[in-house]
Amino acid sequence: MKVIMLGAPGAGKGTQAKMIADEYKIPHISTGDIFRANIKNGTELGKKAKTYMDKGELVPDELVVDLIMSRFAEDDCKNGYVLDGFPRTIPQAEALDAALAKNDDHVDVAIDIEVPDENIIRRMGGRRACTNCGATYHVVYNPPKVEGVCDVCGQKLILRDDDKPETVKNRLNVYHTQTQPLINYYKKKDILKTVDGTQDMNKVFADIKAVLG
Ligand code: AMP
Repeated sequence: MKVIMLGAPGAGKGTQAKMIADEYKIPHISTGDIFRANIKNGTELGKKAKTYMDKGELVPDELVVDLIMSRFAEDDCKNGYVLDGFPRTIPQAEALDAALAKNDDHVDVAIDIEVPDENIIRRMGGRRACTNCGATYHVVYNPPKVEGVCDVCGQKLILRDDDKPETVKNRLNVYHTQTQPLINYYKKKDILKTVDGTQDMNKVFADIKAVLG
């Protein structure tokens, strides 16, 4: 099963993608996480990506497409995957479709998690991410067991630079102009499913399971 998560930054794509990955035993692939791991390890790719990410802009398509194609070549992708944060532009979606078509394959479903901008801005300020393993939390909606400490690895939680209010506004603009057109792209292909992302995260997941079957 090949699933794409759509929705604004902060709509809950990452949280839901992890739940889908656990339930359906497919890998969760987040381009944002891959970039952050590269930044942490000081790679050339990480250095290039950081200049865009810190401003809330998108990393250029060529860099993202090359990165994701090499990830798909790994063994765990044989039975599908859930993509979180890719594609984010029409050229990326077309590159994905073209790569899959080479093997007579296609995306099965694109899930759009709908959340109004006002809710997003309120949510993002409460987001916390682990400096070590990248796990994400929310101070109100999904708090860690111990404040400021990652449940998974015990390291410190921070407000990411790209979750700071001024960057969030820019990310939302970027989302509306560059990523939202994907909703129509997948609607036309008749594989778009929309869920209400303002609900409790377990209810959102129940709606997603109903869609995925
Ligand atoms: P995310 O964690 O998915 O919100 O991604 C964080 C940042 O990484 C984004 O704001 C972009 O700068 C960059 N990024 C992640 N995925 C992509 C993508 N598919 N295309 C371009 N930039 C991306």
